[in-house]
Amino acid sequence: MQCNCCRNEIAEGLATCPHCGFPVLVNPATDEYRRMIEEHRARKLSQITIDLQIFSYEVSAEGVTDKGSAWRPLAGASQLRTDAVFWSDLSCQELVSDRNFSMRVRMRCGDSSREQVVPMKPDHPVSREHVGVIAGDDFSFRLAVGNKDSYILSEPVGML
Ligand SMILES: [Zn+2]
Repeated sequence: MQCNCCRNEIAEGLATCPHCGFPVLVNPATDEYRRMIEEHRARKLSQITIDLQIFSYEVSAEGVTDKGSAWRPLAGASQLRTDAVFWSDLSCQELVSDRNFSMRVRMRCGDSSREQVVPMKPDHPVSREHVGVIAGDDFSFRLAVGNKDSYILSEPVGML
């Protein structure tokens, strides 16, 4: 069966959804139930932060030194909209290219977190200037790379 809140598949006989924690109830068609779903969704979204892995390099006379990677907060899930990209102030590199690349994101919720590699497949040359996020349905999002005028989107990524 499917969770009425996050739409993930869940096994029969469970009292709560293991993905989002919503109670499995039998009578989903009431206004009260729909209100519970909306409240649970909003509360859950307020707890989720999406981080982006950033790599840094130092350029000196000896050459380019890899300074390692770090996680930076990209967006809080409740900041996101489905009809407009939320642009973070994180920037990558101002390199215009149409070659495929990937980014690594981490979804944090309370004490748990999950990492995922997100492939980006430009269908036109894009500047990797800024990274943004747009909300999708049912606890999903897409990464945006580029700028307000020209950007590409990833396939949907689950937040949970
Ligand atoms: Zn769920």
